[in-house]
Amino acid sequence: MSRTEALFRDDAYLAEAEATVAGVNERGGIVLDRTIFYATSGGQPGDSGTLTRTDGSAIAIATTVTGETKDEIVHVPAEGSALPETGETVRLAIDWDRRHALMRMHTACHLLTVACPFPITGASVGETESRVDFDMAETVDKAEVTAALMEMVGADHPVYAQWIDESELDANPGLVKSKNVRPPSGAGRIRLVCIGADAALDSQPCGGTHVRSTGEVGAIHIGKIEKKGRENRRFRIRFGAPPQ
Ligand SMILES: [Zn+2]
Repeated sequence: MSRTEALFRDDAYLAEAEATVAGVNERGGIVLDRTIFYATSGGQPGDSGTLTRTDGSAIAIATTVTGETKDEIVHVPAEGSALPETGETVRLAIDWDRRHALMRMHTACHLLTVACPFPITGASVGETESRVDFDMAETVDKAEVTAALMEMVGADHPVYAQWIDESELDANPGLVKSKNVRPPSGAGRIRLVCIGADAALDSQPCGGTHVRSTGEVGAIHIGKIEKKGRENRRFRIRFGAPPQ
């Protein structure tokens, strides 16, 4: 239908904004000219929240997904919601507490790939628990991995995004840690998420939302490491200190 300006890509901390309704698709999904709602992708679930109309009534948004193309962001209203008119101005508010938890968890997943430098075969970010699957045969101690994660959290390293040319990525294929997923190509520019001054700890292509510094992740621990086949390990990250 159209290209949505993704405001969260430059500022993940925008909890509110104003936008114009670009259209409502045949399934009742709302497309805006710009949005702060993250659309489900890369293992991070889409945002929920509300669109408030000028008459003060609110449309509850259950989730957010991408549309016909990755550039189109579709706000999925809760069942039975009224739908806005094209051209209408709406006030956007995301469910910030949930998003912030997802940002902390998503950043924690990046830290895990630093503590555990093996190819990633899958990942899923959740509000209370996330999982990352690695292609590895080694057995590691979850307390040691937790300690490595908390050292990076304690050091409060900066986390920031940097755009590079696709050609730079082609020249440095080692930047990509996902085994099966290639970053979208053809766009010309790739968004790298960097951790540490001058990306000293890590940089990898990612379109998700992250916190500004590793300290904001807070206390996390590895709840479980499961063996999924001979060469696959599933790590579960949870908030808080490890249970005694
Ligand atoms: Zn990320």
